[in-house]
Amino acid sequence: MSESHSCASQVITCKAAVCWGVGECKVEEIKVEPPRKAEVRVKILYASLCHTDIVMSKGLPIPLFPRVLGHEGVGVIESVGEDVNAEDFKQGDVVIPTFVSECQECENCLSGKSNLCLKYPLTFNGLMLDGTSRMSTVKGQKMLYHLFSCSTWSEYMVANVNYLVKLHNWDAAAAIPPLSHTKIERGSTVAVIGLGAVGLGAVEGARMQGAARIIGIDNNDMKREKGIAFGMTDFINPDDHHSGHNRDHNKSVSQLIKDSTDGMGVDYCFECTGVAHFINESLEATKMGKGTAVVIGTSGSTSVQIDSLSLMSGRTLKGSMFGGLKAKTDLPILINKCMNKEIQLDELFTHEVPLVDINQALALVKQPDCVKVLIKI
Ligand SMILES: [Zn+2]
Ligand SMILES: [Zn+2]
Repeated sequence: MSESHSCASQVITCKAAVCWGVGECKVEEIKVEPPRKAEVRVKILYASLCHTDIVMSKGLPIPLFPRVLGHEGVGVIESVGEDVNAEDFKQGDVVIPTFVSECQECENCLSGKSNLCLKYPLTFNGLMLDGTSRMSTVKGQKMLYHLFSCSTWSEYMVANVNYLVKLHNWDAAAAIPPLSHTKIERGSTVAVIGLGAVGLGAVEGARMQGAARIIGIDNNDMKREKGIAFGMTDFINPDDHHSGHNRDHNKSVSQLIKDSTDGMGVDYCFECTGVAHFINESLEATKMGKGTAVVIGTSGSTSVQIDSLSLMSGRTLKGSMFGGLKAKTDLPILINKCMNKEIQLDELFTHEVPLVDINQALALVKQPDCVKVLIKI
């Protein structure tokens, strides 16, 4: 047996942040099984978190506990399953987990319209493709749910190779920003509601595609500077328009966007807050007859009210997962841009904590000066 298979048969005991119920994360020892056929076991170096983890920690949309969260990270392959081709992945390779995959064969992959593969789908059941988990508690051997096709808040995790991208250098790539890959035409006007990491990614995506104006909306003034660094041209803080003496009193976000575009609205509006109410606001903020609202922020709500007349007036409402990026086609290009400093990762990473302080990380993301927290595993 080759060296790369030698340790693949043993269960590893390691530390992980286990979410036991709503908002309760505890760092404890867990067992991680060896990788099965088309899987590898990865030693995680760095992870990160976003609003999606927080939504899932609240048991939304499906309460799956106990669970190891985390869907952003970078690690080194510790061992490989028997069906893994060494030319694709081997021990020591640096990889990032991608919760979307791309088989390049299925109807969706071939359509050119979607990044959601049907053969290797985005999974919501917290289990591997064969319907089982690779993680369990040390005490009581209780099964632990994964998050999507990975669980990065753990020293080790198992992933199917179809949900991994190989890196040649891990420096600075701990958490690739979910840049919006929604195609926009050059010269478009764009609004981005919510300037967290996802929103800043949308700003950057719009800038790279030649948007004429990029209006950022956030009620945190500290995001003004961040937004400008990523290419934002205008900033609106809705709170500035909420004072009782101000004639703009209680103007909606969509109205504020229309006000700054001569009443027209924008060609594209990206909803990045995950606040359900803003989905309709993003639609309202787009141009009659041709505007498109794109929902990127993860919302805990499963239903939302939409103004049917706005929709009928030729506007499009669509959603996007993983920034619309294709795992094999687009992600390596994006990673290269990060490596070449064409994308300003340094502006994104504002805090760093060790895994044991995971609850501190969850609190930090709510702070106004925080964009992205790096979790050192
Ligand atoms: Zn995320
Ligand atoms: Zn596919």
